[in-house]
Amino acid sequence: MLTPFVTAAPALILIALGYALLCAASPFGNCRACKGMGCKTRVTRRGTVKRGRDCRRCRATGRRLRLGRRLYNHGNRAADAARRARTDAQP
Ligand SMILES: [Zn+2]
Repeated sequence: MLTPFVTAAPALILIALGYALLCAASPFGNCRACKGMGCKTRVTRRGTVKRGRDCRRCRATGRRLRLGRRLYNHGNRAADAARRARTDAQP
């Protein structure tokens, strides 16, 4: 009953490793709401595409921090705070 899990484990590890590398190489991905445009697009009655209002989700940057990178930053900050707390406590 354990065999499917055992065979799938190396593949999962490879995928995780690939994702970690991706997060290290390019921490930003395109914003999902505006697809990297940084704004909403609207189509006029003539059919031309015009720039709409700025995207609220990425604050008009069109970029988004990848989930893996966000977790990494969070962990880094927490470790940093712990380190600082430890050194501050010393006389
Ligand atoms: Zn956006």
